[in-house]
Amino acid sequence: DRLRLDGKVAYVTGGGQGIGRAFAHALGEAGAKVAIVDLVLAKAEVVAEELSLKGIKNMAIGADVSKPEDVQRILDAIVARWGTVHIACNNAGINMNSASEDTSLEEWDKTFNVNLRGLFLCCQAAGRIMLKQGYGKIINTASMASLIVPHPQKQLAYNASKAGVVKLTQTLGTEWIDRGVRVNCISPGIVDTPLIHSEDLKPLVQRWLTNIPAGKLAQVTDLQAAVVYLASEASDYMTGHNLAIEGGQSLW
Ligand code: NAD
Repeated sequence: DRLRLDGKVAYVTGGGQGIGRAFAHALGEAGAKVAIVDLVLAKAEVVAEELSLKGIKNMAIGADVSKPEDVQRILDAIVARWGTVHIACNNAGINMNSASEDTSLEEWDKTFNVNLRGLFLCCQAAGRIMLKQGYGKIINTASMASLIVPHPQKQLAYNASKAGVVKLTQTLGTEWIDRGVRVNCISPGIVDTPLIHSEDLKPLVQRWLTNIPAGKLAQVTDLQAAVVYLASEASDYMTGHNLAIEGGQSLW
């Protein structure tokens, strides 16, 4: 079964809740060993415990993906435990919300540091290992905001960072595929996770709902098969792709 991940080693950043947590479960259920990486170690440990209950081999790592030394520590820990890495889910991301004319440099830098610099560091560190073994699958989490400007706005730094995720994915995906490393991304629409229940985003979500052809928010379960597909050999001829799972929202 080309969708099985038995014997594969995976990690998921931002794996402590939301979409990353769902990815960790899905990859583990498909047979992979999974390292759950999160800024908050305690959250990663809770998810690790959930995976253990399902008999999935796992480890929890506390790390900030925007810091090069943390990213190196993630890969070192995984290689020390399991020998290598085959599947890298670079999913950690943050979303702050302000009118563009009021967006502070601090918000801009923080957003880009996690969403894009962190992704670059993780892709590079995991990619080096994958290129050496001639095999790897990198799955980045972008956003529907990479395709459209979701209404209403106030997402300048976020939207720009997610567009950057797509171009980074396309560039690495074409540069590395002939050495066995595929790089793709998933662009979720509005997913029912803790992120969208933040005080910042709550007021926007009600309005966004009126713009979704599907008429409802996505659940994390709507994304799980996609990450398994992109992590598996079934998608080996796909690279640099941005897979939108957004209930049709990017088409309206
Ligand atoms: P979330 O806020 O529910 O979870 C994100 C997790 O990432 C948290 O556990 C957090 O602790 C962790 N994290 C934050 N900064 C980190 C860092 N520097 N290093 C390591 N871990 C860090 O978010 P979510 O909704 O699950 O979103 C996950 C990804 O999906 C993000 O990249 C987000 O931009 C993207 N996304 C979400 C939605 C949505 O509607 N929820 C839509 C499109 C894209």
